[in-house]
Amino acid sequence: MGDKTFAIGNIRPPFHASSLLLRWTENCPWNRCNFCTLYRGGRFRVRSLEEIKADIDVVCYYRDLILERLRDSDPRTVRRMGDISASISREEKHCYYMVLNWIVSDKMKTVFLQDANTMIMKKDQLREALCYLRRKLPQVETVSCYGRADTLARFSAADFRELKEAGLNMIHSGFESGCDQVLALLNKGTRREQEINCGLKIKEAGITYNVFYMPGAGGRALSEKNAQETAAVINAIEPDFLRIRTFVVKPGSPMWELARAGRASAGAAALPADAANTPGAAGAPEAATAQTDTQDAVAAQADTPGAAAASVAALPAFSECSDLEKVREIRSLVAALDERLGTYVISDHIINLLSGVEGFVRSDKEKILSYIDRFLALPQQEQKEFQLARRMCVNVDYDEMALLPENYRDQIRSLVRRADTAEKWEETLRYYLRKYI
Ligand code: SF4
Repeated sequence: MGDKTFAIGNIRPPFHASSLLLRWTENCPWNRCNFCTLYRGGRFRVRSLEEIKADIDVVCYYRDLILERLRDSDPRTVRRMGDISASISREEKHCYYMVLNWIVSDKMKTVFLQDANTMIMKKDQLREALCYLRRKLPQVETVSCYGRADTLARFSAADFRELKEAGLNMIHSGFESGCDQVLALLNKGTRREQEINCGLKIKEAGITYNVFYMPGAGGRALSEKNAQETAAVINAIEPDFLRIRTFVVKPGSPMWELARAGRASAGAAALPADAANTPGAAGAPEAATAQTDTQDAVAAQADTPGAAAASVAALPAFSECSDLEKVREIRSLVAALDERLGTYVISDHIINLLSGVEGFVRSDKEKILSYIDRFLALPQQEQKEFQLARRMCVNVDYDEMALLPENYRDQIRSLVRRADTAEKWEETLRYYLRKYI
């Protein structure tokens, strides 16, 4: 084997920290969401089957090498890279440690396929790549990737079943919102109808489905609507997981300018047509997506005549929600979830203020609501001290503040005192929040 590297992207969901990362596509085929700068400047590309298979072969090479050493060595010696090759490159070292971490921490159970929308691959190519992966890495239990709602909506339930048989058994989708007005504001390029359409088919196929929601994404004016309409989408689909990702405006993003201008109009583009319902675009995903230049395909899709264009003038001005308003929005959403749902709600990111918003809707809804209510009922000073501590990356919950050293709490109190107006206070919180995005 010549080149002993395989492609690894930068972005993955937090809970895939120990998963094997395989980059089957590069960057984002949409790349226009107002709030996101993750793949700005990166040209989208689907990697060839040859490249994907060669990457898996390299993983197997490192896996066999490491397992061989683990059989008769102290695991600590395996961490030493120098004795594998004197001339190993930095890239090879990176790949080696990725596989080592996957073996030691994940027990070779999970693979995450990067980048932002792997589901845009042609179905046959995706299936062949999955079959190869499963054949070469038979210990793997979960293979997952990101998929945008508009892309996923083009698959039939039979397509999803076929892909599941080939080995894809988990999909993550950044819905962000179930409200069309908010989606237009974000220039997400998707619609709630597509979210419901794809969600039902994915569930029908028995694929584990993770949906992401961003409280605060609609700003003040759309906050309650965002909660109610997102809850309605979740009630319709019953995804396995609803993962909360608090909305934060990122410097350098178009949303930053919108927030600064206080208007949502500038930069919000037309919504794309629902490919599944557009004459001539119906059918298998491979018919709808150009393989070699998907950016162009998506651009064409957004320009499709008859697309449900959002009336830019109709969008309300964007006024950022305060930290507490986002918490209230989460409360509204949880309250509106159908108590029969088997969905697991989870707040699994430091960007969320309340980490304890977690549990099955069916059995834990009241517990989650009263947890949020207890926080909202705290005296303002206690609330603020906790907010600031959490935003400064102190991993405590609001009822654990007494665990912090007194001198640290004094520093927090002093910062709270200095932010003596509502605007200064929110800006202080945002300053720390931006460090996470
Ligand atoms: S689809 Fe995802 S990765 Fe692509 S621009 Fe939107 S948020 Fe960013």
